[in-house]
Amino acid sequence: MFIDSHAHLFASEFADDLEEVLRRAASVGVDSIVVPATDIDTSKQAIRLAEKYPSVYACVGYHPHEASKAEATLLEEIERLSEHPKVVAIGEIGLDYFYDFAPRNRQHDIFKAQVEMAIRRNLPIVVHTRDSIPDSIRIVREAAAANPQWREHLRNAKGHLPAPRGVFHCFAGSAEEAKELFRFGFYVSYPGIVTFKKSNAVSTLQQTGFDHILIETDSPYVAPVPLRGKRNEPANVKIVAERIAEVFGVPVEDIARTTAFNTKRLFQIPPSDAPRITYTLRNSLYLNITTRCNADCWFCDRKGDAVVKGYNLALEREPTVEEVIQAIGDPRRYDEIVFCGYGEPTIRWEEVKAIAGWVKQRGVRVRLNTDGHGNIIQKKNIVPELLGLIDEVSISLNSSDPNQYATMMNIPSEPYFGAMVEFAKACIQSGVATTMTVVNLPEVDNEKAKQFTEQVIGAQFRARPYF
Ligand code: SF4
Ligand SMILES: [Zn+2]
Repeated sequence: MFIDSHAHLFASEFADDLEEVLRRAASVGVDSIVVPATDIDTSKQAIRLAEKYPSVYACVGYHPHEASKAEATLLEEIERLSEHPKVVAIGEIGLDYFYDFAPRNRQHDIFKAQVEMAIRRNLPIVVHTRDSIPDSIRIVREAAAANPQWREHLRNAKGHLPAPRGVFHCFAGSAEEAKELFRFGFYVSYPGIVTFKKSNAVSTLQQTGFDHILIETDSPYVAPVPLRGKRNEPANVKIVAERIAEVFGVPVEDIARTTAFNTKRLFQIPPSDAPRITYTLRNSLYLNITTRCNADCWFCDRKGDAVVKGYNLALEREPTVEEVIQAIGDPRRYDEIVFCGYGEPTIRWEEVKAIAGWVKQRGVRVRLNTDGHGNIIQKKNIVPELLGLIDEVSISLNSSDPNQYATMMNIPSEPYFGAMVEFAKACIQSGVATTMTVVNLPEVDNEKAKQFTEQVIGAQFRARPYF
């Protein structure tokens, strides 16, 4: 299932065969299409399309090309139109320094006015930029800083990731700019340019991962290879997804699911999927048995949406051992079964052992992803109990500096840091394959963490992407 997050279906190119175009999109699995407007007329057209076709959602707003024409009364009308139930964002709005069809100060004024409108209406924004990313980021950042409630999420306590409040579409910026936007609660969206030889989009993507992206066609423009120069249409979003899947060496379903989830989350398009007890990544089956944790890492989305690669992991209640076993099905279909999810599995240690025992009887490898605090949580040495049940542990080191560790996890450094290190050493002594992980964050010294892992603990080291 794909979502085309940006298609101008009102364009005259679709005047003759829109129904046919929508049928083709549905036939390749395009579930929803978001239609950004460029001025007052196209805003109304987008709404009419959204009223007529259930799979279509509308945005309203003034494109920077049209900024000179965006009179105050027309912007007031845009704001009224934004109250329509199928309007999901203000867009597309932004700055275009490549064409400069409107004077830049005028573009700034109209962009700012519409960001303010989105804040008043509590809607996300769809941002168009061309040769203007730094200014665009600055304007959005300033507006959001002055209106923190725009980005606040009900569960967004303690500086956890903010709710997404927009997308930079047709993104041509650097990996650094993309990461800045991600931290700021924005997504970036990629169209068919990822299929072009002469585009840096692929190298940016490789540096940022695909967790915070949307996909789009920007129809009727930017048709992907091998259709370049032709009219583009929403069915081709599948080609974009396939190319991104190829870049990451993952099944296209992973790209489709992640980007569809992100798009629905951003635009609040129902329905969101039911929480999962198990989920697959590559050929591993992950088990989500709890969302409880003894720590409270600032970078963890456990108390937010609790989503991994488009999978909803926000359990409403903890599954029983029987329910987990039933959800696993035949474990021999997978390379390994991994206790993971958002939450600390050793909090449910008796259940972990029961499930792991059942998996091991079927001859399949078991990995435990943990914060390494199991001995404190269970008030006993659990390492001897791992033997024969857990083949591998992956422990969050987070930082080799105990103070930074404590700050990141929002727990006291002692006894937790020392307990984590002792747990890792004990696992190694017992012959359990042990990996220490850190999340790639600019404030963490990965080189030091790697040295500490190899020289002090004697384990494998792995840095995993945050974004
Ligand atoms: S230890 Fe893991 S589950 Fe717990 S808060 Fe930190 S990242 Fe989230
Ligand atoms: Zn557009």
